[in-house]
Amino acid sequence: MPSNFRLDVESSGLATLVFDTPGKSANVFTREAMDELAALLPELAADTSIKCLVLLSAKPRIFIAGADIEGIAGVTDRAEAEKAARMGQEIFAAWAELPFPTVAAVNGTCAGGGTELSLASDLLLISDRPDLRIGLPETKLGIVPGWGGCTRLPRKIGLAAALDLILGGKMVRPRKAFKLGLADALLPDATFLAEVRRMAEKAIANGSRRQARSDLKSLLLEKNPVGRKIVFDQARKQVMKRTKGQYPAPPRAIEVIKAGIDHGMSAGFDAEARAIGELAVSPVSKNLIHLFQLMEAAKGVRTDGDEDRAVEIRSAAVLGAGVMGGGIAQIIADKADIPVRLKDIDPDALARGTEHAAGIFRHQLKRRWITRPEADRKMNLIRPCLDYSGFGSADLVVEAIVENLEIKQKVFAELAAEVGPHTLLATNTSSLSIDAIARDVVNPGRVVGMHFFNPVDKMPLVEVIAGARTDAVAVDGIVAFSRRLGKTPVVVKDGPGFLVNRLLAFTLAEAMWLLDEGQEIEALDRAATAWGLPVGPAALTDEVGIDVAVKVAHIMSEAFPDRLAYPQWMVRLPEDGRLGAKVGKGIYRYKDGKRTSADPATYELIGRRRADESTRPEKMLDRLLLPMVNEAARCLEERVVATAGQLDLAMIMGTGFPPFRGGLCRWADSQGLSELKLSMERLAARLGARFAPSAAFERVVAAGGFYRSFS
Ligand code: NAD
Repeated sequence: MPSNFRLDVESSGLATLVFDTPGKSANVFTREAMDELAALLPELAADTSIKCLVLLSAKPRIFIAGADIEGIAGVTDRAEAEKAARMGQEIFAAWAELPFPTVAAVNGTCAGGGTELSLASDLLLISDRPDLRIGLPETKLGIVPGWGGCTRLPRKIGLAAALDLILGGKMVRPRKAFKLGLADALLPDATFLAEVRRMAEKAIANGSRRQARSDLKSLLLEKNPVGRKIVFDQARKQVMKRTKGQYPAPPRAIEVIKAGIDHGMSAGFDAEARAIGELAVSPVSKNLIHLFQLMEAAKGVRTDGDEDRAVEIRSAAVLGAGVMGGGIAQIIADKADIPVRLKDIDPDALARGTEHAAGIFRHQLKRRWITRPEADRKMNLIRPCLDYSGFGSADLVVEAIVENLEIKQKVFAELAAEVGPHTLLATNTSSLSIDAIARDVVNPGRVVGMHFFNPVDKMPLVEVIAGARTDAVAVDGIVAFSRRLGKTPVVVKDGPGFLVNRLLAFTLAEAMWLLDEGQEIEALDRAATAWGLPVGPAALTDEVGIDVAVKVAHIMSEAFPDRLAYPQWMVRLPEDGRLGAKVGKGIYRYKDGKRTSADPATYELIGRRRADESTRPEKMLDRLLLPMVNEAARCLEERVVATAGQLDLAMIMGTGFPPFRGGLCRWADSQGLSELKLSMERLAARLGARFAPSAAFERVVAAGGFYRSFS
């Protein structure tokens, strides 16, 4: 059987242990790897020829990815989860007690269990590679670091910094890791191994174990119980504010860290293991792990060593330097690191778009994510222009001009004449048909939808839209390129609203009907956010722009006349100058760009007195969610999206659907579909046929769930 670890001992006493998980692109602490390490440790401890042991990774980009996610996903027994945590702790404790100095030579991304083993080493040396991240992301998976991380990290970097890292599940850059004291040295990547050797030899010469840095964060504040209380109280308050009590892992981590600080290391380890037992089997953790797996699959991150073959895109162009175009050019220059033309017909718009991109680089510079020469170099990759110069050599053009079919058709026909016959032509349209846009293009098979969400640099989803005539190779090219941009691509079929905006349209329409009935605006939004949605539907309508929302509402209700309608008064809002957040006047009032309270004038335009109606939050949520569930079944049956998992991923990444609920379909499955069907029928009887369960949904119910039907 191929082994995970290779040991080599030099005559000088310098030993290296190379971690190399067979057949995977990342080192993972699978059950086999842990067993092997456990068996190796007594041998290492007994080997008197070893004077210093350096832990290395054979993988090019990832040092250690952490524990085996499949293993955590599969555990259903509390005692079993707790036992696995204790076993890991024992192995890492044996590592920490080896009778010679140990060095973790972190030359790639290091997460979870990898970081915990590194913390159990005497020295943690880190490479300065820009793509390296190190941290303890466990709370993002609904658990806590359970192999010693909660107990060791505060002792290494101080309580406040450890809380910040663990509670946020943060992965930090090398420079930050060094600044925090997590890494003992930051070494240039080019000479990393030579430097590691030099430091290991120094450790041998000194015969010393731990080489504490002089500026290592002291535990002074934490040694004082009053100071400690303040830090913990603060952390509790922040966690409650951020998680609204919906994520159990961060508050649990606070208790675990506290046990380790107040009562010593072994109490800390014990608390870690008990927390793992509880949390790893909880539905929230299962949902978060499910989401993690969906994301990994969408990123094309495979651990079986079979990397994707990406279509080569060496230069790109963006048409339209508006809200979206500037952001798209920026992310292409930044992440793909290739030249990108940015064209507009209006010099002022071009200047604004270029400035928008520059602003994002300035922000990165301020946060010290990049250096000034790097920011300048990347900004120089963006070449603003008012004509098609340079488009001839582009492998990809992304169009982000005004949302008007005639104009887009004309521009695509024009564009096709300016570029090579195989240049990929992508459109960022949010509502127009890809097939219609491609109508006059030579080789229409290369026209693909590449639907970014606003703001481009922050929103992780890209809907990759295949028209009826789009070639598979063009779709694959855009999927691969979206990944290169660090985005999560989901392939969807051409059709009104594609996937995300189609589902969202049903919720937003229902929100408008609730307002139409006299529901209080703030109560409606509060019900949605209390359930876990990032923003309520009324506030979201303001964010999108009410003029845009009305336009989309019109298109969508024409597409689905049997089940989607909006109240008449909606058009009165933009007529009254209420375009939403962008003009500081919408459903809500705004002060200094910030939303304050619902505008009484909105109730007048609706034709209702304020808060005529007060529906219970659960009832409002039924109204908001069930039409989406009903429509999701139709989308899946029409193959708008391939699987329930992909649909869930798109909703979480594109709309912020609460991750802890696992996604729309997974949430619906967990609720009992017959129950949901009954609720739909009740609503249909009271409010109209728009709630009637669709034939597609009936089939999902009969088959026993979305995931059973569409996996
Ligand atoms: P915008 O109005 O801010 O920008 C459009 C830009 O295109 C303007 O600067 C305009 O001068 C320019 N333009 C018009 N005709 C042109 C031409 N022939 N050649 C080059 N430039 C031309 O619009 P936006 O909000 O950035 O939207 C652009 C596209 O992205 C639309 O299709 C829209 O549906 C889509 N989209 C927008 C959002 C959003 O939230 N704003 C989100 C996703 C997708």
